[in-house]
Amino acid sequence: MPIYEYQANDDAHACNRCKNGFEHLHRTTEAPLTQCPECGALVHKLISAPSVGSSASGLDDRAKNAGFHKLKKLGKGEYEKQY
Ligand SMILES: [Zn+2]
Repeated sequence: MPIYEYQANDDAHACNRCKNGFEHLHRTTEAPLTQCPECGALVHKLISAPSVGSSASGLDDRAKNAGFHKLKKLGKGEYEKQY
């Protein structure tokens, strides 16, 4: 089961739980949260959360977070550092 991390859109209308972000375990049948279960503030999903679906961009993010650098090959022996 995927665990998603959510954070309040607006700190001013957030409780202690959603202000700093909270993890929510999803059942597969459950829709993504749009509101904090504690206070009802609007929340958004954080992209840093572990994801089950692996897209190319997700892989890049994970590599980046892990401290890897991505090099783009420009030509023979030439690489451009992308991050
Ligand atoms: Zn809240």
